[in-house]
Amino acid sequence: MSDTDETQLEARLADQTEFEPPESFVEQANVTDPDIYEEFEENWPDCWERAADLLDWETDHDEVLVDDDEPFYEWFVGGELNASENCVDRHLEDRGDELAIQWEGELGETRSYTYEELHREVNECAAALRDLGVGEDDIVTMYMPMVPELPIAMLACARIGAPHSVVFAGFSADALATRMNAADSEYLVTCDGYYRRGDGLDHISKANEGLEGVDHETTTVVVDRLGDDLDHELGDDQLDYDDLVADYEGESVEPVVRDAEDMLFLMYTSGTTGKPKGVKHTTGGYLSYAAWTSHSVLDVKPDDTYWCSADIGWITGHSYIVYGPLALGTTTVMYEGTPDYPDKDRMWEIVENYEVDQLYTAPTAIRAFMKWGEEYPEQHDLSSLRLLGTVGEPINPKAWKWYYKHIGNESCPIVDTWWQTETGGMMITTLPGIATMKPGSAGPPLPGIDAQVVDESGEEVAPGEAGYVTVNKPWPGMLRTLYRNDDRFINEYWEAYSDEEADEWVYFPEDGAKIDDDGYITILGRVDDVINVSGHRLGTMEIESAVVDVEGVAEAAAVGGDHDMKGEAVYTYVILEDGYEESEEMRQSIVEGVEDGIGPIARPEQVIFTPELPKTRSGKIMRRLLEDIANDDDLGNTSTLRNPDIVDDIQEKVRSD
Ligand code: ATP
Ligand code: MG
Repeated sequence: MSDTDETQLEARLADQTEFEPPESFVEQANVTDPDIYEEFEENWPDCWERAADLLDWETDHDEVLVDDDEPFYEWFVGGELNASENCVDRHLEDRGDELAIQWEGELGETRSYTYEELHREVNECAAALRDLGVGEDDIVTMYMPMVPELPIAMLACARIGAPHSVVFAGFSADALATRMNAADSEYLVTCDGYYRRGDGLDHISKANEGLEGVDHETTTVVVDRLGDDLDHELGDDQLDYDDLVADYEGESVEPVVRDAEDMLFLMYTSGTTGKPKGVKHTTGGYLSYAAWTSHSVLDVKPDDTYWCSADIGWITGHSYIVYGPLALGTTTVMYEGTPDYPDKDRMWEIVENYEVDQLYTAPTAIRAFMKWGEEYPEQHDLSSLRLLGTVGEPINPKAWKWYYKHIGNESCPIVDTWWQTETGGMMITTLPGIATMKPGSAGPPLPGIDAQVVDESGEEVAPGEAGYVTVNKPWPGMLRTLYRNDDRFINEYWEAYSDEEADEWVYFPEDGAKIDDDGYITILGRVDDVINVSGHRLGTMEIESAVVDVEGVAEAAAVGGDHDMKGEAVYTYVILEDGYEESEEMRQSIVEGVEDGIGPIARPEQVIFTPELPKTRSGKIMRRLLEDIANDDDLGNTSTLRNPDIVDDIQEKVRSD
């Protein structure tokens, strides 16, 4: 393409606000009938049979939904099943020789498991765990990086009816101890280490340090990932994974029949707002919902090679690397390392090598790709891609369009999926074979999901006005409670909008949002993140999008800092694209960009250029901290950050500016 063509194309894309799903995609999509929304509404809650029907049940349910004790809802009551049987065994007959897991290590080594092989591994691991004493309903903690033994151990636990609690490997020793203590978990599966940017990273020392803080006896199984690259000694109550499993070669374990409402796993939320909650998910409702959304939103088919680049230590990895894709019998890709090792084209190399059909990633990653430049994806053939997805944070239109053009070649629909650890699966997003896409807006609630945008009193807001997301009806994938803390479950999620006297229960996710005339919901960010300037409520997402729209800006964070006159004033932290430099001119275009995009009311008080933003381990911008910096407040604990060193630099800058 010539430079002028290229410029014209960019200009057209920049102006375009709506995109239709490509014809070629629609023709083959799993869900294409727009009546599905009406059907679900009319047949609610029986519509959810459609999700349950994607699974094999040992016993069918008697009732779809039991709501005698709200908000403690029960789904598919009377039904019985096993999650490991659904994710592995039932595919053996037709797909035994097809790949279940395609794993790639950071150094380039690969391991793949057919369903047959996965079945063997899961059985052996299940037999071993059972002999170690793991019984039904004993919680097994996993503190593991992205190695195949992680999904294998999760499925092994599911097979014997032992809920797992996966603790993200990047979390601290303390975080491990707190979670094991809170769950009385007596078993840990962990790993000696893993590779990051070519170096073997010690993980076992951290695990051992964590175990010292556990207040009861434990048994630990250690996967040897690093071999000779890290010598490690096993303690008295520690076993080597391979040695242990070798004793059970060829053994099979009958999947334990689980009640639909039996716990499948416990997952502590990522802690962006700083207070971990033990979210409880169940076997029938969760698995049905993960399978249904993988089918309808990610368009997963058995013959696909599907890649979600999240870490299994987050809910996204649970639902959309492990349970959803494997329940549907597809090939799920797992990558151990970082996207820029050995070079910034690593993701695209993986897409090309495995001919990935769907890629599901996070806005933070997309903004990094954008910053690095399109020359990296351009080095690879990405034509196997059929669908793109994002999750975790709002995606600003500029990043959406970059993803659409440079990764999807304008021929893949993008699903911007809003959901939470608590919701188990996607809640608000377009159905890719049906709906018009609007960059920056997640889309309408999925069929059967009754989500609204309301004001403080619970009244629906007019289109265009800022309000809060609420969910007015239960759904199968929802959390059942916070582990051992029913009270907190109620105050955290239900108290704000429910009318207990009238027995009307409303789930409150604590996110701000807007809705448009077509019912599309734009998430504005967390409720805590809304900035109040002279009585005007501004969403961080809107300001950030206006800043990122300025040429040369790769990423931005907006927060409110105290201001004598306005109450709060807008502070923006800005990362520039490679090849651009901080200047007064740049600062000026950013200020003007915000004034033009939103209005003078949102005019940034200060623009701070920084090479990085403080991020949580899951890659979300830690706005709370940026707010403290703007206010020159005490920063408290910064150890949960992925990049704690950046904080001092930014603080220095703000003070000197
Ligand atoms: P914690 O609840 O512990 O503070 P967290 O909310 O970051 O942590 P998650 O459950 O992983 O933990 O993230 C869910 C949140 O992520 C949502 O409530 C929302 O704020 C944000 N989010 C997820 N997907 C999207 C999306 N597509 N658009 C906008 N925001 C999103
Ligand atoms: Mg949350």
